[in-house]
Amino acid sequence: MATHTSLPQVKNTPHDHDHEHGVECCAHHELKLERWILVYFVGGLLAFISTLCRWFALADAEISQIPALIGALLLGAGLFYSAGKELFRGQWSSSTLAALAVLAAIATGAYEPAAYLAFILLVADQALRRTAWGARRAIEQLVQLTPDIARIVEGSSEREAPIEEVKVGTIVRVRAGENLPVDGVVTAGKSMINQASLTGEAAPVEVEPGSTVYAGTTNITGTIDLRTTQIGEDSTIGKVASLIHAAEATRTPRQLMIEQVARYFVPVALVTAALVWYLTNDMEKAITVLVVVCPSALLLSSPTAMMAAFAAAARLGIMIKQTSYLEAAANIDTIVLDKTGTLTTGKFAVSRLAPAPGVDGAELLQAAADAEQHSNHPLARSIVHTAEQARIVPASGGNFEEIHGRGVRGTTASGELVAGRATWLRELHPANIQQIEEVESKIEGMTGVHVMRAGRYLGAVGLEDKLRYNAKGVVEKLRELGIRKTLLFTGDRFAVAKRVGVSVGVDQIEAECLPEEKHDLIQALVRGGSRVMMVGDGINDGPSLAAADVGVAMGLSGSDIATNSAGVALMNDDLSRIPFLMMLARRSKLIIGQNIAAAIVIALIGLISAATGALPLWLAAFYHFVGDVFVIGNSFRLIRFGEDFAGSQDHFASTGPQRTQPVQRRASASLKPAVPAGA
Ligand code: ADP
Ligand code: MG
Repeated sequence: MATHTSLPQVKNTPHDHDHEHGVECCAHHELKLERWILVYFVGGLLAFISTLCRWFALADAEISQIPALIGALLLGAGLFYSAGKELFRGQWSSSTLAALAVLAAIATGAYEPAAYLAFILLVADQALRRTAWGARRAIEQLVQLTPDIARIVEGSSEREAPIEEVKVGTIVRVRAGENLPVDGVVTAGKSMINQASLTGEAAPVEVEPGSTVYAGTTNITGTIDLRTTQIGEDSTIGKVASLIHAAEATRTPRQLMIEQVARYFVPVALVTAALVWYLTNDMEKAITVLVVVCPSALLLSSPTAMMAAFAAAARLGIMIKQTSYLEAAANIDTIVLDKTGTLTTGKFAVSRLAPAPGVDGAELLQAAADAEQHSNHPLARSIVHTAEQARIVPASGGNFEEIHGRGVRGTTASGELVAGRATWLRELHPANIQQIEEVESKIEGMTGVHVMRAGRYLGAVGLEDKLRYNAKGVVEKLRELGIRKTLLFTGDRFAVAKRVGVSVGVDQIEAECLPEEKHDLIQALVRGGSRVMMVGDGINDGPSLAAADVGVAMGLSGSDIATNSAGVALMNDDLSRIPFLMMLARRSKLIIGQNIAAAIVIALIGLISAATGALPLWLAAFYHFVGDVFVIGNSFRLIRFGEDFAGSQDHFASTGPQRTQPVQRRASASLKPAVPAGA
């Protein structure tokens, strides 16, 4: 059975190798195509000469058929070649059936029908493929916005060069209005960049020296120089493109099942054709049966839809890593949301400094900044930012280690430095318990980062961040979509978790979880039969994201996409993408269902009408493609799904009255499994 994994579908023609290279080969492709058109034309003309001879009795009946025979062989050659190749690989598909039909027609002396049949099959196939190319190109245009010329900066001069000359480290200049050719870090200049092609967000972002910028995005206002970090396929947009292509090629369990079913088409067609021949003694009918039964539409049902869905998702900055995650996202019934950076912005403001007795606030902030300077945690970034504004320069030197979900620890010239959650510091230095508790009461309701230096407890920095503007609306939308349970997991204190949880309206809160506890809770949910989607910031939720049926990491930048353990990566941090993803997944599932049903019905109708003689052979040659056309057209409707979503900023922003949800207190310090819904 042929694996129709690459679109445009490879069928009936011998030159199936040259689509795999995508757009680049088009010029070369057109050339090849022209040559084949000439062959088709000559073949068709020969058959027509025979027909004319027969009509006007211009030659002896036998002799008049010679041009048709040559034409049939000429036209059939392409079909035989690809069928032979398939058989050689032990796969059979519609190419085999179509070739067999032409062969049978030639063998029984029906040269004219054989030639016309082959002619229609080949020409219609080309037409179909050209249409499919068009659609495919449209998809590629979504992501291939990278210019192929770059302006390379060398010393004080610049020159334009083909993109191939740009290497990692090359300095590239991008003027206002141009698209970026590579991923890189800005070294000079300030500008606004529209990253909609990657993130789906219309609002441009400001960049300055040090900012990371991406190939395929548009520089709007100023000239910038950037140092190349990633080129071509390694660039973020390159990875996005390969994800979309991979979506078409991977075989999910469903696709394997479809292939199993399709496998039955060939023997069924052969047996039916043989029966028809035996019963009616009408070879043409038998040949017609072979021509119409074409499982290629069935094989295309899922890959085409997946590719289109991946492209639709990519436009909104949603990178789905495997088709199986898109399949799974359609059936989710439980959603676990991380708090920091997911439901909240993760942009903390330092609200209070609560130094321990005898410690100065500035000293506390200095020590906190020293400890957090190398951490990427939102709390750490915020503390360092606040310190900078207070003109505090983090001390250089020291060895630091991040302990996920707990804090950071390091050795510096002035001794051991620890910053992190209260429970962790208590574990490390039980002697400080009372002091920590006193400080905790001063930062009630805030997220606290406690600091200790050289065995001395310095106090805590109290921070607060804001709820995302659409968090509540998104949770409501999820419930509307039939999610049975929404849970909030956080490593933060219960008081903070509760405030967030109640205002967005989750069903359950799990506070003060360590990353491994989050993971265990998710595993328990999955084992309990829930179909779980976990949404996190991807900073220290890796194991949890991997344990869920679908893990979604928010706000990732290019290089994180590949390394992150989430099945779905969001290039932005817009929560509205979560319900969108579910809607897209469900729509894809629906479309694939339609495709499968239509492919089977179309094949059966063809089979019956061919067997009963209702379908003449020439019409059968066109009918051969009806299923493919339907499936491709139906699938590519998905590309437009969510078009109105792109660029718009206020999805699911909730304006309605605040709804209070029952909240269970489950501040689990031990490994308490969450009770799955309905258990
Ligand atoms: P969340 O579950 O809300 O995303 P995390 O698991 O990232 O939170 O962190 C849990 C808690 O651990 C934080 O509230 C904080 O107290 C502490 N923590 C984690 N990382 C750090 C860090 N780099 N610096 C200070 N505290 C940290
Ligand atoms: Mg987190």
